[in-house]
Amino acid sequence: MVDFSISEKDQQIFDLMKKEGLVRRKYSRYYDLHEEEIPPDEFPEAKDFPSLESVLAGRSKEEGGATAFSLFASMHRAMYGGIALRSPNRALGNSSLTAAGTDEQKKKWGNTRLAMANTEPGCGSDSKAIETTAVLDGDEWVLNGEKIFVTTGIKAEGVVIWATVDKTAGRAGIKAFVVMKGTPGLELVKKEKKLGIRASDTAAFVLKDCRIPRENLLGLDESVVKKGGGGFKGLMMTFNLTRPGVAAGGIGNTMSALEFVKEELEKEGVTVNYELGQHNRTAIQQKVIELEAELEAATLATLRAGWLGDEGKPNNLEASVSKQKGGDICRKGTQLALEILGAPGITRDYRVEQNFRDGRITDIYEGTGEIQRLVIARGILNYSAADLS
Ligand SMILES: Cc1cc2nc3c(=O)[nH]c(=O)nc-3n(C[C@H](O)[C@H](O)[C@H](O)COP(=O)(O)OP(=O)(O)OC[C@H]3O[C@@H](n4cnc5c(N)ncnc54)[C@H](O)[C@@H]3O)c2cc1C
Repeated sequence: MVDFSISEKDQQIFDLMKKEGLVRRKYSRYYDLHEEEIPPDEFPEAKDFPSLESVLAGRSKEEGGATAFSLFASMHRAMYGGIALRSPNRALGNSSLTAAGTDEQKKKWGNTRLAMANTEPGCGSDSKAIETTAVLDGDEWVLNGEKIFVTTGIKAEGVVIWATVDKTAGRAGIKAFVVMKGTPGLELVKKEKKLGIRASDTAAFVLKDCRIPRENLLGLDESVVKKGGGGFKGLMMTFNLTRPGVAAGGIGNTMSALEFVKEELEKEGVTVNYELGQHNRTAIQQKVIELEAELEAATLATLRAGWLGDEGKPNNLEASVSKQKGGDICRKGTQLALEILGAPGITRDYRVEQNFRDGRITDIYEGTGEIQRLVIARGILNYSAADLS
């Protein structure tokens, strides 16, 4: 049975996360306006709050699914503290490690903050178009290529680089390699300046004859014919793990905008009367109610994707549904919040303009909205990528 009700104990944890989030909210604008600075891992006033990692570590199986719980926690954090201000110990590359690494590799790098580099100047949505190469030379892999838009690329201790060991093999030739910072040949060449999520660093790298140990290939599967393992499927599995998380952040960001709007309306004596029929509501009441309904739908879709993951069931389709819904609500919901507030909404006096900018990325990274729709259509129609691309 699917049950997303919140236990008393979980509610207490979420209440603590709200308090922690409100501490971070104070810093959120600062790092938005000072993009050149990298925020610390933790802020002094928030240091006594339990980390999500420690809460998850102490969670028993009987207490319910860890993924659905952490998605709900992410929504809380984004709602109160903003997207991307708290930089967790684990980054996108850690999800690649979980999806494609051997048990030994997971032990070795489990506590290392790893960024993930798939995107290149000529390869974004079409992940299999990777040009970066990895060539085995004795007991070392030699990597050459260019990687752009790497989240946490500056803060991370290492980067999971997706590269091809055989261009003629297409997807089967694509593998993931752990490249630690400081490895000769891995050069950090750029830090992006962005519209939103400015507290999250985004970097570009060049790999020039970058030599790494043979055992840094995630999954240790060097074959290019065998399906599964650490190849392209591992990259796609990374996204099944992370897309609901991106959606959760976006939903929380939109909830934050909505919360602000409702507070401002209340100051003007406008409250939403849920008892009124549709034809008796004001236009603003109708807009708020519609937005709340969309947020509920996106939240449930996201929790369901996480729940399936917890149950060990395939969630490729559901992960994309959650990401598409989360991206959509972030664009439309934060825009609606601006519209309701009118001119002051776009000033820096109100936090909603930042919600609007921060939310935009939800529909872009880890697969754009169009790509999610493709994955959803393939899943429903049982088509392969070759049938529908
Ligand atoms: C802030 C930020 C952080 C990022 N972090 C990371 C990271 O950590 N690691 C990483 O590897 N990448 C990262 N990315 C890259 C991100 O995942 C890509 O930008 C994204 O996948 C889209 O690729 P692209 O920009 O090359 O767009 P393109 O693939 O060139 O697409 C351009 C447009 O065409 C549309 N389109 C493309 N193909 C199709 C199709 N088949 N059908 C319909 N429409 C299509 C797209 O939806 C989009 O609107 C990040 C990007 C940003 C902006």
